[in-house]
Amino acid sequence: MRVELQHVCKSYPLPGGGGTVSALDGVNLVIERGTLCVLNGPSGSGKTTLLSVIGGLSRPTSGSVTLDDKEVRNSSDRQRGTVAHAFQEAVFIPELTVMENLLLPALRCRDHFPIDRGERLLEAFGLAEMFDLFPAALSGGEKRRLNLARALFLSPSLLLIDEPAAYLDDGWQRKAMEMIIREVCDAQATLVMATHTPLPGDEGFRRILMHKGRVIEDGSSDY
Ligand code: ADP
Ligand code: MG
Repeated sequence: MRVELQHVCKSYPLPGGGGTVSALDGVNLVIERGTLCVLNGPSGSGKTTLLSVIGGLSRPTSGSVTLDDKEVRNSSDRQRGTVAHAFQEAVFIPELTVMENLLLPALRCRDHFPIDRGERLLEAFGLAEMFDLFPAALSGGEKRRLNLARALFLSPSLLLIDEPAAYLDDGWQRKAMEMIIREVCDAQATLVMATHTPLPGDEGFRRILMHKGRVIEDGSSDY
């Protein structure tokens, strides 16, 4: 999927009604289909906001977001199953099992329920013994791996991941990155990951550096 942002600004009202805080300040970006991108920048630079705006979960205050030549106004504008978002903090339904939570994205496209793919993904993310547990029984790292597996489940054309390394030890960071890259490349999908720390295996990625809501560097592969 191709992503284009034109003059995207996002501001939030300050509590108490006095003024606004600017999270994105005139972002212009074109990301061609099949590109692997990493968004870098210190905490508060606007990375999470940018991912939400690209995914249609948050509307820009001004400017436009276009996915494959279609302007996105909210998340329902997206074709079902084509955009997946892994938030930094996973959201699970506590009454559903690990497998049922993994299958949730398929509810948006009910003709497509590949349970065997779900099993393979859970196994690959080290959750083979946990299909029937409830999310409360998982550790932080296990929840994170379930969150990533769920984002990959429908082979999205655009995958947005916020802080992929969060809660994962070095070994799982490396394995998770390998699986994400393999899946994304097989599907010729577009990947945008936001991170404030270096990630193993992202050396060939397009690096977009943010500072105070602006893109201040684009394309360098050095930290
Ligand atoms: P990052 O992911 O790079 O840490 P964020 O996109 O989370 O940055 O935040 C960018 C700026 O916008 C910060 O100053 C943050 O406090 C502010 N911000 C983000 N979300 C909200 C919100 N829902 N309400 C108010 N301010 C917000
Ligand atoms: Mg963030």
